[in-house]
Amino acid sequence: AFDVLVVGGGPAGAAAAVYAARKGIRTGVAAERFGGQVLDTLAIENFISVQQTEGPKLAAALEEHVKQYDVDIMNLQRAVTLVPAARPGGEHRVQFESGATLSSRTLILATGARWRELGVPGEAEYRNRGVAYCPHCDGPLFKGKRVAVIGGGNSGVEAAIDLAGLVAEVTLIEFMDELRADAVLQKKLKSLPNVEVITGAKTSEVNGDGTRVNGLTYEDRASGERHRLDLEGVFVQIGLVPNTEWLEGSPVELSERGEIITDERGMTSVPGIFAAGDVTTVPYKQIVIAMGEGSKAALGAFDHLIRS
Ligand code: FAD
Repeated sequence: AFDVLVVGGGPAGAAAAVYAARKGIRTGVAAERFGGQVLDTLAIENFISVQQTEGPKLAAALEEHVKQYDVDIMNLQRAVTLVPAARPGGEHRVQFESGATLSSRTLILATGARWRELGVPGEAEYRNRGVAYCPHCDGPLFKGKRVAVIGGGNSGVEAAIDLAGLVAEVTLIEFMDELRADAVLQKKLKSLPNVEVITGAKTSEVNGDGTRVNGLTYEDRASGERHRLDLEGVFVQIGLVPNTEWLEGSPVELSERGEIITDERGMTSVPGIFAAGDVTTVPYKQIVIAMGEGSKAALGAFDHLIRS
């Protein structure tokens, strides 16, 4: 059994493992895919103190750093069930798809999130070649260019406002007949000279020249007519889904959006079970933030262990 078992091997899980192991306690990390979302990223330019790196390189560095310590790394292990301790101070158990079960006095849940995809032709083909999901990360790559933002909820409208300051033109495309974002955001959006809003539009294809995105096709839902926009980038903002399906039915409290609710030390509603990174309600899903939160959860778990 472990003192700390981390579930998830992205930036949050790797940071948690390093911090826990440095306390000299029995630490394990089990992850479906060590590296997490970072593996799907090309250029990373906001990992502070590293001016420029690439996702796979950072993912390899995360694993290398964890391996410097006495940590049991169990890759390609998908957690399917969480069984909390039957009594205070007891061991929590995690069951994996492989049939394995691990038990630990504390858990750190760091299973991250995934961007909801449009599921239209061209989206996967041009991912990282014009199709982007994170304006904080990739916005500057489109300086002076034309982009579309798909999605008129808060994240889509925030992205459009953010991008309007960097790019030449922004077209915001919303499926419904009106935007769903807060009124104050919509007002700000409407005040910007280089933003156009198209509602009642179903995105049907991301177009490209074989190398990069060069357009977007949408269908006017009222008339059924198809239109094409010439542009260089498409930001998909139709939701970030937390990887918490496996916690349904467990006593770990989730928000309405399915994110894990934590306190200021990273502890969930179940004593001894902590969480960190994109899987939690903590806002602004970024690598540096996930690492900070993972470190905090490990220190929180250590504190909990020495008190119980
Ligand atoms: P994740 O990275 O999502 O890691 C989750 C881990 O949990 C993975 O190991 C996964 O396999 C595992 N897991 C999931 N479910 C289970 C399960 N049931 N059982 C076991 N393991 C499981 N951020 C930046 O700061 N800068 C950028 O430039 C940047 N660019 C990005 C580009 C793209 C294309 C994407 C998708 C994201 C980008 N981000 C960027 C966001 C950043 O990658 C995330 O904020 C960060 O990876 C979150 O870390 P995490 O550890 O919380 O979760």
